[in-house]
Amino acid sequence: MYEELFQFPPGREGYYGEYGGAFIPEVLHETIRELTEAFDQCRADETFWEEYVTLMQHYSGRPTPVTYLENLSAKLGGAKIYVKREDLNHTGAHKANNVMGQGLMVKRMGKSRVIAETGAGQHGVATATMAARMGFDCTIYMGAEDVARQRPNVFWMEQLGAEVISVEDGTKTLKDAINATLRDWTASMGTSHYVMGTVCGPHPFPRMVMYFQSIIGREARAQLLQQTGRLPNRVYACVGGGSNASGVFAGFLDDPEVELVGVEAGGYGLDTDQHATRMAQLKGSVGVAQGYKTRFWQNAEGQMRDTYSVAAGLDYIGVGPILAHLHDRGRIRAEAVTDEEVIAVMRQVMRHEGLIPALESAHGFVAALQEAPDMSPDDIILINQSGRGDKDIFTIADALGDDRWQDFLRQKVASFEETS
Ligand SMILES: *Cc1c(COP(=O)(O)O)cnc(C)c1O
Repeated sequence: MYEELFQFPPGREGYYGEYGGAFIPEVLHETIRELTEAFDQCRADETFWEEYVTLMQHYSGRPTPVTYLENLSAKLGGAKIYVKREDLNHTGAHKANNVMGQGLMVKRMGKSRVIAETGAGQHGVATATMAARMGFDCTIYMGAEDVARQRPNVFWMEQLGAEVISVEDGTKTLKDAINATLRDWTASMGTSHYVMGTVCGPHPFPRMVMYFQSIIGREARAQLLQQTGRLPNRVYACVGGGSNASGVFAGFLDDPEVELVGVEAGGYGLDTDQHATRMAQLKGSVGVAQGYKTRFWQNAEGQMRDTYSVAAGLDYIGVGPILAHLHDRGRIRAEAVTDEEVIAVMRQVMRHEGLIPALESAHGFVAALQEAPDMSPDDIILINQSGRGDKDIFTIADALGDDRWQDFLRQKVASFEETS
């Protein structure tokens, strides 16, 4: 099924069912064609994947382990719960897989500069890290609102040598940063590559990012077979744009007996407008924006709504076209869980297993931990822990309602802002 996804009918290159495509200005056609060609060449060259895996071993600690959650499995009394530890990557999340892979491609294309947009800042930090390592110039666009909210990430991007441009247009958030990055790319495409952060945007990005992230699923499948002698019954992953989910699911798409569960941000609940759910309960509707066609969280007039989630990385209006298609086909199940459920599960996972998942990743844990008790102790489930929660310290302290830490942390932030 995985390879079958990419056998496009004539005239439908880059489409997955009705989703995907490349809705881009004429001037970018040539550079997108060049990128597609470079990607095809890399995929056809066996030494490319080997080079990528070796780089990730030496630079990012791969293969990341699969950890058995002994205590929670016993406590819940159902399926055995395993976790794929993408939090142990350099820079703390699965984003490293994608940026390092694209970096290797940029080298092969002979370009010298990378540009990217970032909302919460995690993708900006990952891209700046890659650029420093590979010797590229790096420009990161970020909405002015986000620059103010994410001071520590801006600090690290600058230390890593990136130029961070604060975008003052529109609502001063992610979508304005995306427009600014596209403007830069149209003016600089001869030397610059746009590092897409997730499985969204115009073809070939969804396929390309899924290809690099598939390292998660390939490893996890082999590791589970080795550790347990069998495949999991279900695999859970949180879905923002959809890259960590696509990556872990890629390893199991051709195993029809493995159920794949994507978990979206339910925010304050699906009965409110305060969430970022597109697939579950078909909350989103089909539209075209940001260069591709998918299910967006928009109103009846096709206007994009404001998304909301406690997890900044899930706070996004679109979803990868490949995931939207697999959901339509019934190959993946989509669920949404609320902020409140996420915080309760964070507490449980920290206390009983000593893991600190990112708030994004905790969405996958919620669905898994809710369903595990109804399964048999012979069953196995796998959760993709996309990242580590250290970055969420202020939000988690706030949500847990611990005054002592809230005050202390606020003072720290205030003094940081004064000195920077
Ligand atoms: C960015 C991020 C996500 C959301 O992105 P996807 O493309 O949906 O994977 C999820 N988890 C973590 C830890 C992130 O940093």
